[in-house]
Amino acid sequence: MGRTFFVGGNWKCNGTIDEVKKIVSTLNSAEIPSKDVVEVVVSPPFVFLPLVKNELKPDYHVAAQNCWVKKGGAFTGEVSAEMLVNLGIPWVIIGHSERRLILGETNEFVGDKVAYALSQGLKVIACVGETLEQRESGSTMAVVAAQTKAIADKVSDWKNVVIAYEPVWAIGTGKVATPDQAQEVHFELRKWLQSNVSADVAASTRIIYGGSVNGGNCKELAAKPDVDGFLVGGASLKPEFIDIIKSAE
Ligand code: PEP
Repeated sequence: MGRTFFVGGNWKCNGTIDEVKKIVSTLNSAEIPSKDVVEVVVSPPFVFLPLVKNELKPDYHVAAQNCWVKKGGAFTGEVSAEMLVNLGIPWVIIGHSERRLILGETNEFVGDKVAYALSQGLKVIACVGETLEQRESGSTMAVVAAQTKAIADKVSDWKNVVIAYEPVWAIGTGKVATPDQAQEVHFELRKWLQSNVSADVAASTRIIYGGSVNGGNCKELAAKPDVDGFLVGGASLKPEFIDIIKSAE
């Protein structure tokens, strides 16, 4: 079962209108591989979603960086999955480590969010990953499996889920996982899906890597058999994002 390479750009809490327009114009003027080779999704802050969605050429899709865990209502400051659907936003990132660690989102909460977003018709980039302490204590796979299980407990249809393996120690640090380190976890994660969900889901679900990916290291990572793409933070704000997209070829 072929897995189309997937590259996500997580712009995090960055940008002004002018800066966002500049990134959009760089993306629009780039020649990128066709959609059967790579699926590209960029994720600006909520306030810029309509602007980016309206101005980007159709080679790209747009994702929100988060959404509320259930139907909207009296939840001040939140944005619901229904609102994203209403805006025509197809994707959402859920469970990013910055939300897990800074805002205290638990595995169960993330699982509930993924399930609710999917139920509303959104496609989900679900993030998992261990801290440096967890890696050094040898619990990487246990942590990643527990995070994935909390999602698997609530989700039966995986066709609209991309898993982003993002070791916390690699995010925004410049300390990228080696291709072998990424491959090892992706392979184990796929094995976990095979044993705990199904062989079909294991074979078809894209597992992408995130953490200090840049134009210089993407090719080697992309060559690993279980690395199906990237979730890119810092470098997604720069022209080198195009090189990362092209690593799909
Ligand atoms: C991220 O935030 O998802 C990420 C991978 O960040 P960076 O590429 O900057 O490490």
